[in-house]
This record gives sequence, C-alpha cells and structure tokens, in this order.
Amino acid sequence: MPEMPEVAGYTKYFEKCALGRKIASARVRDARIVRGLAAGELEKELTGRTFVATRQHGKYLFAQTDGGKWLIEHFGMNGRLWYFEDYGEAPKFDRFLISFESGGALSYVNPRMLGWIGLTEDPGGLIEGKGLGPSALDPLFDYGEFKRIFSGRKGEIKPALMNQKLVAGVGNLYADEILFQTRIHPEMHIARLSEKQLKSVFDTMKEVLRTAVERNGDIGSFPQEYFLPHRRKSATCPACENELETVKIAGRTSYFCPRCQKKEPGQNR
Ligand SMILES: [Zn+2]
Repeated sequence: MPEMPEVAGYTKYFEKCALGRKIASARVRDARIVRGLAAGELEKELTGRTFVATRQHGKYLFAQTDGGKWLIEHFGMNGRLWYFEDYGEAPKFDRFLISFESGGALSYVNPRMLGWIGLTEDPGGLIEGKGLGPSALDPLFDYGEFKRIFSGRKGEIKPALMNQKLVAGVGNLYADEILFQTRIHPEMHIARLSEKQLKSVFDTMKEVLRTAVERNGDIGSFPQEYFLPHRRKSATCPACENELETVKIAGRTSYFCPRCQKKEPGQNR
C-alpha cells in the first residue's frame, strides 16, 4: 500500500517525466476511476496543456497545468505511476494515460481501483474540505502544532498517528516504525505520554519519513536497526531479539516488541 513516502516518490517521478511537457492526449481507460467530472471532460481539460507544477499532501499528488487547474491523483491501496516510451510497453491495469507531444506516456496504474483521479482549481480547498491534517513532512508543521493536535486527546497513540485528519501521511507501517523507535506501545494512551515522549514521537516521525522518502519507501534498503525490515510474523526485535507480537488496532495489524515497547509511562526513556 503506498504510504506518504511512496507518494513523495511518485511526485518526484511525475516531475521528472511530465513537468514542462505538452500533453498530446489524455485518455481515461476506466471511467470508474474519475470523480467529480465526466471522463471526457477531464480528457478535454488536459489535452494541449502543459504541466507546470506539482504539490503533494499525504497520499494526494496534485499536478497543475498552464490552464491553472490541477490534476488530482490519489493512489488508494496500490496505485502507482509508470512512464514508457513505446506503446508495446503499456502496463497492465493502466487506468489513465497521458501521452506527450514529444513522445512517451505516463500511466496511472491502479489494479484494485481503490484510488481516484479528478480535477480541481484549489488543492488547498480540497485538502481542507477532506478535513486532512497538516502534511507530516511540511517544514511549516512544527512541534508546537503537533502538540496542539495531540495533547489533551483521548485514546491510544497508534490510531491517532494513523488518523489522516490529525496528521496526513503516516500509515500503518510507518506508525509501527515510529512507535518502535520511541519505545512506546501502540496501545499506550496519549494522555499518559510524557512531554518528552510526545516530542520524541514528533522528531522520530519526521526522521523516519525523511529516511523513507530518500529511499523511495524501499523497506529493504532501510537501516538494519530500523523496525520495518524485521516486521513480519515470528521475526525478532532488532534491538533485543525478543519475538515480535501483533495486535489489531483500528482494523489493522500492528507489530511491536513486547519487551522494548511498554504501555506504562516512564518505563522507557
Ligand atoms: Zn525489543
């Protein structure tokens, strides 16, 4: 499932393949993927335009054309982008294809149809309308704002970290990594976190996501002391070699080390 670091990678990929290039044609291959307007309308709006800017927020990629409007691509559970030069190379599950006047085409690939595409004049308004929180890696998103969002909140830390309405861009995997590195049990109540622990969650979130963006979300290339390369059934903790455990939180499987990550405040750090 693409999380924010993968979408950051797609944004860089989009810039490399599509920015500054004139669109010869835009073709919706499956109309069910389009939201908010008719497929034909989207095709017409894009054809003849040139992409001039991109923007990313959580799992959304926005690409502006010289007409002023922004193409929206949401990657859902397993969407991705694929650029190719030769039509024989068109990928499977191609749902939306942009061909460029200078040759080459960029496909929005989405096997399970769980994402969507559309058009907007105002990405900021769309983000606001969806009630999405600040984007985790936005440099303007600082600890002061993080603290305002989290302090005084009821409930457990893990579902709050994954709640896109609080912070956009932390999914299930990266939440597990952040909580392991800060030695906090995923079911720990936010109210019981010390100030030091909350600050540590914030700093670690930025650090983990930056590392993930640098490595395009390729978990295999993460540092070995990270949790994610070890996160699987019957694996052992990279810090203490205790067997990892799982627990279902908000419908998703959480992995943690029962020895390193405690529910009680002050037991670790
Ligand atoms: Zn451990």
